[in-house]
Amino acid sequence: MSARIIDGKTIAADLRGKVADAVHRLRRDRGVVPGIAVVLVGDNPASDVYVHNKSKAVAQSGMRAFDYKLPATTSEADLIDLVMKLNGDTEVSGILVQLPLPKQIDAQKIIAAVDPAKDVDGFHPVNAGRLALGLPALVPCTPMGCVLLTKTVRETLAGLEAVVIGRSNIVGKPVAQLLLAEHTTVTIAHSKTNDLPSICRRADLLVAAIGRPEMVRGDWIKPGATVIDVGINRAPNGSGKSGVVGDVAYAEVMQVAGALTPVPGGVGPMTIACLLLNTLRAVCAQKGLPAPKM
Ligand code: NAP
Repeated sequence: MSARIIDGKTIAADLRGKVADAVHRLRRDRGVVPGIAVVLVGDNPASDVYVHNKSKAVAQSGMRAFDYKLPATTSEADLIDLVMKLNGDTEVSGILVQLPLPKQIDAQKIIAAVDPAKDVDGFHPVNAGRLALGLPALVPCTPMGCVLLTKTVRETLAGLEAVVIGRSNIVGKPVAQLLLAEHTTVTIAHSKTNDLPSICRRADLLVAAIGRPEMVRGDWIKPGATVIDVGINRAPNGSGKSGVVGDVAYAEVMQVAGALTPVPGGVGPMTIACLLLNTLRAVCAQKGLPAPKM
């Protein structure tokens, strides 16, 4: 058996197209133009590329992009001042502060300073709490992308046994909350979990968010399972150079799973598409407009 490949690139492009259409209608019918402020502190090359791609996607969607590039020496107080200014700026519907931040800045303080209504990353404690309580919230983008990808191959998630490997606040915990809201039975595994392979073998749906290249092997997979690979790892590609691989041993898992996301081209493109969707949802809520239908 060979798994169906879940083409995140195409699914994300479709979602971005729908968001762009909704942004067009918002501008035409209501005179509202969503805007997103992207704040980058320091010169982490990976963050640089990521922020550049985000800003490009924002502009392509018809939204306004406000880019702030601050030096690595920026103080916590100065960054909080900027966030406060953006909170009060009516042209800014969403605020994204790229992580990681330099060590003199406490990321939790910055996340808490963002207005929860503009928290398009979904990291603010108010949004995390609302998600845990099953209330409407701005939801973290990568977990949202994981669930949307799963729904392209599963008619319903209700009753499925889901295993999430990883318990970070950015991916593991919120993806588990979203899967619970979809009525799956969720197990969250982590570095102290005993006998991880046998827990994974129970999973109809396996989400790997670990950050360990190709750790999940073919014999960890229940035949026919849906596997969502969140990992982005640099690893040697055999020809003396390094390439990007996921947390899942793709070739092996491909032989057992029913459906599988590739890396690259799976979860990654969905993260940016979901950021645009979150910004659209945020602006509609701020203006008292109905939530966009996607
Ligand atoms: P993280 O904060 O480092 O969390 C990793 C999680 O994996 C932790 O909960 C850790 O357990 C667990 N873990 C580590 N080693 C393990 C092991 N041997 N067995 C079982 N669990 C283990 O990472 P993250 O931010 O969640 O990101 C995870 C991966 O997703 C990374 O590769 C990252 O680059 C990628 N990512 C991709 C996107 C995207 O857009 N595609 C977005 C975000 C992240 P403990 O809690 O016990 O330490």
